[in-house]
Amino acid sequence: MRIETRLTQVGTRKERQNGAINVPIYLSTAYEHIDGQSTGYDYTRTGNPTRHVLEETLAELEGGDGGFACSSGMAAIQTVLSLFSQGDHLIVSLDLYGGTYRLFEQVLSRLGLSFSYIDLRKIDEVEAAIQQNTKAIFVETPTNPLMQVTDIRTIAQLAIAHDLLTIVDNTFCTPYLQRPLELGADIVVHSATKYLGGHNDLLAGAIISKGVELTEQIGFLHNTIGATLAPFDAFLLLRGLKTLAIRMDQHQRNATKLVGFLQQHRCIESIFYPSLDQDGHAIHSSQADGDGGMLSFRLQDVEQVQPFLRRLQLITYAESLGGVESFITYPATQTHADIPVEIREAVGVCDRLLRMSVGIEHVDDLIADLEQALDNK
Ligand SMILES: *Cc1c(COP(=O)(O)O)cnc(C)c1O
Repeated sequence: MRIETRLTQVGTRKERQNGAINVPIYLSTAYEHIDGQSTGYDYTRTGNPTRHVLEETLAELEGGDGGFACSSGMAAIQTVLSLFSQGDHLIVSLDLYGGTYRLFEQVLSRLGLSFSYIDLRKIDEVEAAIQQNTKAIFVETPTNPLMQVTDIRTIAQLAIAHDLLTIVDNTFCTPYLQRPLELGADIVVHSATKYLGGHNDLLAGAIISKGVELTEQIGFLHNTIGATLAPFDAFLLLRGLKTLAIRMDQHQRNATKLVGFLQQHRCIESIFYPSLDQDGHAIHSSQADGDGGMLSFRLQDVEQVQPFLRRLQLITYAESLGGVESFITYPATQTHADIPVEIREAVGVCDRLLRMSVGIEHVDDLIADLEQALDNK
């Protein structure tokens, strides 16, 4: 069946005793060994019936062999990075979610992992960065916040040739638009806090993996580290997934119209959206079913930034993305504040850059809000 149908039917026919349409929330942390036998559930960190339905769903949506629901996107990334040992090296997207950069540079590098930040669009540079101790390539595409597109198939082929794992943070696209495991990646991670949850009321992460051995290893780490998702939050995430398709369609329709509006506005210097990326768009279209709901733009003048943010009335000036409500983020002081200024500016995350998570409101209301906030000098 098609993905819209599979999403809508998430969790149905899972509870056969009473026929509940929605998956019940199993809060019990311990499970009786009835007649001396495990029911399949013993202790909730290891396995929980509500979380289990979610994990099966995530694996199915991404086309993986196993899914693991984590307490946050960062918990998912930390769990995956625990596959590696002291002395190992990873190649990472240069334009990267700030929290991931902080985890790599301020925590995992202390534990003996090292990271090279490379523009993954330049495959020669990626290849040149491979060392004897390189174990994986960590990809975000499109990147946050500059919407740069990496060719997942090319990276995965290079990784296979050098016996490396390909890990893709698929938060921006979700499996509705992009399924990296089908393109050759080994592991997908998500901040499910964003589009998968979709309502700005849930912190969650996900890992989906391909291959029996790798999936077993991640399962071991998921249980051992223990950053697992709580049953109530697993329920909320299942509930969010049911409307993922219509939400993504509307995010995308609105984003496309906003791009048109911003393109003709004199206060806007440049816009970043996959369809505007000359080199990247063909690649993006070949690996994703749409451009999504995230865009960034640069104002002409840094002096315009604060007044613009203050004047927004409908669109919320807030960190995070992927919810039904539109948000604008100022990466320089919010999501990317922990990245040193020189690095941030070199990648293009300058002080005039704003990132918008386009919500599902009526697009004319969004345009009107942007217009009054931009024009009101
Ligand atoms: C938000 C985000 C994360 C971190 O996820 P949390 O759920 O906030 O822990 C990781 N990657 C990307 C691309 C994100 O947007």
